[in-house]
Amino acid sequence: MRITIKVGTSTLTHPTGRLNIRHVEELCKVISDVKNAGHEVILVSSGAIGMGVGKLNLSERPSDMAGKQAAAAVGQCELMYVYDKLFQEHNHTVAQILLTGEDLRDEARHANFAVTLQRLLELGALPVINENDTISTDEIAVGDNDTLSALVAVSVKADLLIILTDIDGLYTADPRKDPGARLIPVVTEITPEMLAGAGGGGTALSTGGMATKLTAAGLCMEAGTDMMIVSSARPSVIYDALEGKAVGTRFIGKRS
Ligand code: GLU
Repeated sequence: MRITIKVGTSTLTHPTGRLNIRHVEELCKVISDVKNAGHEVILVSSGAIGMGVGKLNLSERPSDMAGKQAAAAVGQCELMYVYDKLFQEHNHTVAQILLTGEDLRDEARHANFAVTLQRLLELGALPVINENDTISTDEIAVGDNDTLSALVAVSVKADLLIILTDIDGLYTADPRKDPGARLIPVVTEITPEMLAGAGGGGTALSTGGMATKLTAAGLCMEAGTDMMIVSSARPSVIYDALEGKAVGTRFIGKRS
Protein backbone atom coordinates (compact mmCIF):
# COMPACT_ATOMS: atom_id res chain seq x y z
CA MET A 1 0.00 0.00 0.00
CA ARG A 2 0.97 3.61 -0.51
CA ILE A 3 0.19 5.48 2.70
CA THR A 4 0.42 9.14 3.60
CA ILE A 5 0.72 9.77 7.34
CA LYS A 6 0.16 13.23 8.78
CA VAL A 7 1.42 14.09 12.21
CA GLY A 8 0.59 17.30 14.03
CA THR A 9 2.55 19.58 16.30
CA SER A 10 0.65 18.41 19.39
CA THR A 11 1.97 14.87 18.80
CA LEU A 12 5.56 15.89 18.23
CA THR A 13 6.02 18.46 20.94
CA HIS A 14 5.00 19.12 24.51
CA PRO A 15 3.02 22.33 25.10
CA THR A 16 6.42 23.95 25.81
CA GLY A 17 7.45 23.40 22.19
CA ARG A 18 10.12 20.94 23.30
CA LEU A 19 10.28 17.52 21.62
CA ASN A 20 7.97 14.81 22.97
CA ILE A 21 10.70 12.19 22.84
CA ARG A 22 8.52 9.21 23.70
CA HIS A 23 5.91 9.96 21.04
CA VAL A 24 8.42 10.73 18.31
CA GLU A 25 10.59 7.69 19.02
CA GLU A 26 7.56 5.37 18.92
CA LEU A 27 6.26 7.00 15.77
CA CYS A 28 9.56 6.61 13.91
CA LYS A 29 9.80 2.97 15.02
CA VAL A 30 6.30 2.10 13.79
CA ILE A 31 6.74 3.94 10.46
CA SER A 32 10.08 2.17 9.92
CA ASP A 33 8.44 -1.18 10.58
CA VAL A 34 5.58 -0.39 8.19
CA LYS A 35 8.18 0.44 5.52
CA ASN A 36 10.05 -2.78 6.31
CA ALA A 37 6.80 -4.66 5.68
CA GLY A 38 6.86 -3.29 2.12
CA HIS A 39 4.50 -0.34 2.28
CA GLU A 40 5.39 3.03 0.76
CA VAL A 41 5.12 5.83 3.30
CA ILE A 42 5.02 9.58 2.83
CA LEU A 43 5.14 11.57 6.05
CA VAL A 44 3.56 15.01 6.25
CA SER A 45 4.90 16.56 9.41
CA SER A 46 4.03 19.79 11.17
CA GLY A 47 6.07 21.01 14.11
CA ALA A 48 8.44 23.49 12.50
CA ILE A 49 7.02 26.54 14.22
CA GLY A 50 6.35 24.67 17.47
CA MET A 51 9.87 23.28 17.66
CA GLY A 52 11.32 26.66 16.69
CA VAL A 53 9.49 28.14 19.67
CA GLY A 54 11.10 25.54 21.91
CA LYS A 55 14.56 25.83 20.40
CA LEU A 56 14.55 29.65 20.59
CA ASN A 57 13.21 29.52 24.16
CA LEU A 58 10.29 31.78 23.24
CA SER A 59 7.55 32.03 25.85
CA GLU A 60 4.79 31.60 23.22
CA ARG A 61 4.15 31.05 19.49
CA PRO A 62 4.89 34.35 17.67
CA SER A 63 1.81 36.07 16.28
CA ASP A 64 3.52 38.10 13.55
CA MET A 65 4.44 36.68 10.15
CA ALA A 66 8.21 37.32 10.41
CA GLY A 67 8.30 35.77 13.89
CA LYS A 68 6.48 32.63 12.70
CA GLN A 69 8.69 32.35 9.64
CA ALA A 70 11.84 32.74 11.73
CA ALA A 71 10.62 30.12 14.24
CA ALA A 72 9.80 27.78 11.34
CA ALA A 73 13.29 28.21 9.84
CA VAL A 74 14.87 27.14 13.13
CA GLY A 75 12.31 24.45 13.92
CA GLN A 76 12.34 22.80 10.47
CA CYS A 77 16.07 22.13 10.89
CA GLU A 78 15.54 20.63 14.29
CA LEU A 79 12.62 18.56 13.03
CA MET A 80 14.63 17.03 10.18
CA TYR A 81 17.62 16.48 12.45
CA VAL A 82 15.41 14.47 14.80
CA TYR A 83 13.79 12.46 11.98
CA ASP A 84 17.14 11.82 10.32
CA LYS A 85 18.63 10.54 13.56
CA LEU A 86 15.68 8.38 14.62
CA PHE A 87 14.93 6.85 11.21
CA GLN A 88 18.64 6.20 10.71
CA GLU A 89 18.50 3.91 13.76
CA HIS A 90 16.13 1.72 11.75
CA ASN A 91 18.12 2.06 8.51
CA HIS A 92 15.74 4.42 6.77
CA THR A 93 16.73 7.52 4.86
CA VAL A 94 14.65 10.67 5.06
CA ALA A 95 14.16 13.29 2.33
CA GLN A 96 12.83 16.77 3.00
CA ILE A 97 10.27 18.38 0.68
CA LEU A 98 8.91 21.85 1.51
CA LEU A 99 5.90 23.03 -0.47
CA THR A 100 3.65 26.05 -0.83
CA GLY A 101 0.11 26.05 -2.19
CA GLU A 102 1.48 27.66 -5.32
CA ASP A 103 3.75 24.66 -5.95
CA LEU A 104 0.73 22.37 -6.02
CA ARG A 105 -1.45 24.70 -8.10
CA ASP A 106 1.16 25.45 -10.76
CA GLU A 107 1.15 22.60 -13.28
CA ALA A 108 4.89 22.56 -14.02
CA ARG A 109 5.94 22.79 -10.37
CA HIS A 110 3.38 20.19 -9.37
CA ALA A 111 4.72 17.85 -12.04
CA ASN A 112 8.27 18.35 -10.73
CA PHE A 113 7.13 17.54 -7.24
CA ALA A 114 5.32 14.40 -8.39
CA VAL A 115 8.31 13.12 -10.39
CA THR A 116 10.76 13.72 -7.54
CA LEU A 117 8.47 12.11 -5.01
CA GLN A 118 8.00 9.05 -7.20
CA ARG A 119 11.78 8.72 -7.58
CA LEU A 120 12.32 9.04 -3.83
CA LEU A 121 9.84 6.23 -3.23
CA GLU A 122 11.56 4.07 -5.85
CA LEU A 123 14.85 4.74 -4.05
CA GLY A 124 13.27 3.56 -0.81
CA ALA A 125 13.58 6.95 0.89
CA LEU A 126 11.02 8.35 3.26
CA PRO A 127 9.77 11.74 2.02
CA VAL A 128 9.00 14.13 4.89
CA ILE A 129 6.82 17.00 3.68
CA ASN A 130 5.90 20.29 5.32
CA GLU A 131 4.65 23.63 4.14
CA ASN A 132 7.54 25.94 3.27
CA ASP A 133 6.57 28.23 6.14
CA THR A 134 9.58 30.49 5.81
CA ILE A 135 8.40 31.83 2.45
CA SER A 136 4.69 31.01 2.58
CA THR A 137 2.59 34.14 2.86
CA ASP A 138 -1.21 34.02 3.06
CA GLU A 139 -1.56 34.43 -0.70
CA ILE A 140 0.44 31.36 -1.64
CA ALA A 141 0.12 29.15 1.43
CA VAL A 142 -1.93 26.00 1.76
CA GLY A 143 -2.31 27.24 5.32
CA ASP A 144 -2.62 24.06 7.34
CA ASN A 145 -1.07 20.64 7.15
CA ASP A 146 -4.34 18.68 7.24
CA THR A 147 -5.22 20.18 3.87
CA LEU A 148 -1.62 19.85 2.68
CA SER A 149 -1.58 16.14 3.58
CA ALA A 150 -4.81 15.58 1.64
CA LEU A 151 -3.46 17.43 -1.42
CA VAL A 152 -0.31 15.29 -1.23
CA ALA A 153 -2.25 12.03 -0.72
CA VAL A 154 -4.46 12.78 -3.72
CA SER A 155 -1.50 13.88 -5.84
CA VAL A 156 0.47 10.68 -5.19
CA LYS A 157 -2.68 8.50 -5.45
CA ALA A 158 -2.18 7.15 -1.94
CA ASP A 159 -4.43 4.28 -0.87
CA LEU A 160 -4.89 5.82 2.54
CA LEU A 161 -4.20 9.04 4.43
CA ILE A 162 -3.85 8.58 8.19
CA ILE A 163 -4.09 11.77 10.25
CA LEU A 164 -2.64 11.30 13.73
CA THR A 165 -3.96 13.83 16.18
CA ASP A 166 -4.83 14.55 19.80
CA ILE A 167 -8.38 13.21 19.50
CA ASP A 168 -9.33 9.66 18.53
CA GLY A 169 -11.67 10.50 15.67
CA LEU A 170 -14.69 12.54 14.61
CA TYR A 171 -17.40 12.83 17.28
CA THR A 172 -21.05 13.82 17.09
CA ALA A 173 -20.12 16.79 19.35
CA ASP A 174 -16.96 18.05 21.07
CA PRO A 175 -16.20 15.25 23.59
CA ARG A 176 -14.23 17.69 25.74
CA LYS A 177 -17.40 19.66 26.37
CA ASP A 178 -20.27 17.24 25.78
CA PRO A 179 -20.27 13.94 27.75
CA GLY A 180 -22.92 12.55 25.36
CA ALA A 181 -20.62 12.91 22.32
CA ARG A 182 -20.22 9.66 20.35
CA LEU A 183 -17.38 8.60 18.06
CA ILE A 184 -18.42 8.24 14.39
CA PRO A 185 -16.52 5.14 13.15
CA VAL A 186 -17.27 5.39 9.42
CA VAL A 187 -18.19 8.38 7.26
CA THR A 188 -19.38 7.96 3.69
CA GLU A 189 -20.60 11.53 3.31
CA ILE A 190 -19.69 14.75 5.10
CA THR A 191 -22.92 16.28 6.38
CA PRO A 192 -23.69 19.92 7.27
CA GLU A 193 -24.08 18.77 10.92
CA MET A 194 -20.51 17.47 10.91
CA LEU A 195 -19.22 20.74 9.52
CA ALA A 196 -21.23 22.75 12.02
CA GLY A 197 -19.93 20.63 14.91
CA ALA A 198 -16.29 20.90 13.84
CA GLY A 199 -15.88 24.44 15.15
CA GLY A 200 -12.54 26.18 15.22
CA GLY A 201 -9.43 24.46 16.31
CA GLY A 202 -5.75 24.21 16.82
CA THR A 203 -3.71 24.57 19.96
CA ALA A 204 -1.32 27.21 21.26
CA LEU A 205 1.39 25.86 18.95
CA SER A 206 -0.44 24.55 15.89
CA THR A 207 -2.94 25.51 13.21
CA GLY A 208 -5.42 22.72 12.51
CA GLY A 209 -8.51 21.42 14.28
CA MET A 210 -11.50 19.32 13.23
CA ALA A 211 -12.61 21.83 10.56
CA THR A 212 -9.40 21.47 8.54
CA LYS A 213 -9.58 17.67 8.96
CA LEU A 214 -13.04 17.66 7.41
CA THR A 215 -11.74 19.79 4.53
CA ALA A 216 -8.98 17.21 4.10
CA ALA A 217 -11.50 14.36 4.24
CA GLY A 218 -13.62 16.03 1.56
CA LEU A 219 -10.65 16.34 -0.79
CA CYS A 220 -9.65 12.71 -0.24
CA MET A 221 -13.15 11.26 -0.57
CA GLU A 222 -13.80 13.16 -3.79
CA ALA A 223 -10.57 11.72 -5.27
CA GLY A 224 -11.37 8.17 -4.11
CA THR A 225 -8.77 8.05 -1.34
CA ASP A 226 -9.71 6.76 2.13
CA MET A 227 -8.74 8.92 5.09
CA MET A 228 -8.60 8.10 8.79
CA ILE A 229 -8.43 10.28 11.89
CA VAL A 230 -6.80 8.36 14.74
CA SER A 231 -5.31 9.22 18.10
CA SER A 232 -1.58 9.78 18.20
CA ALA A 233 -1.42 8.71 21.86
CA ARG A 234 -0.39 5.21 20.69
CA PRO A 235 1.51 5.30 17.36
CA SER A 236 0.98 1.53 16.95
CA VAL A 237 -2.58 2.52 16.02
CA ILE A 238 -1.06 2.80 12.50
CA TYR A 239 -0.84 -1.04 12.41
CA ASP A 240 -4.53 -1.26 13.35
CA ALA A 241 -5.45 1.26 10.66
CA LEU A 242 -3.57 -0.73 8.01
CA GLU A 243 -5.15 -3.98 9.13
CA GLY A 244 -8.61 -2.42 8.71
CA LYS A 245 -9.40 -2.62 12.44
CA ALA A 246 -12.10 -0.34 13.82
CA VAL A 247 -10.02 2.52 15.18
CA GLY A 248 -10.77 6.23 14.93
CA THR A 249 -12.92 7.47 12.08
CA ARG A 250 -12.58 6.16 8.54
CA PHE A 251 -13.79 8.38 5.69
CA ILE A 252 -14.51 6.24 2.67
CA GLY A 253 -13.28 7.52 -0.70
CA LYS A 254 -15.72 7.55 -3.63
CA ARG A 255 -15.55 4.34 -5.62
CA SER A 256 -16.07 4.92 -9.33
N1 GLU B 1 3.59 24.08 8.84
C1 GLU B 1 3.33 24.36 10.24
C2 GLU B 1 4.54 23.93 11.08
O1 GLU B 1 5.30 23.09 10.66
C3 GLU B 1 2.15 23.63 10.77
C4 GLU B 1 0.86 23.86 10.12
C5 GLU B 1 -0.23 23.04 10.81
O2 GLU B 1 -0.08 22.71 12.00
O3 GLU B 1 -1.24 22.74 10.19
O4 GLU B 1 4.68 24.43 12.18
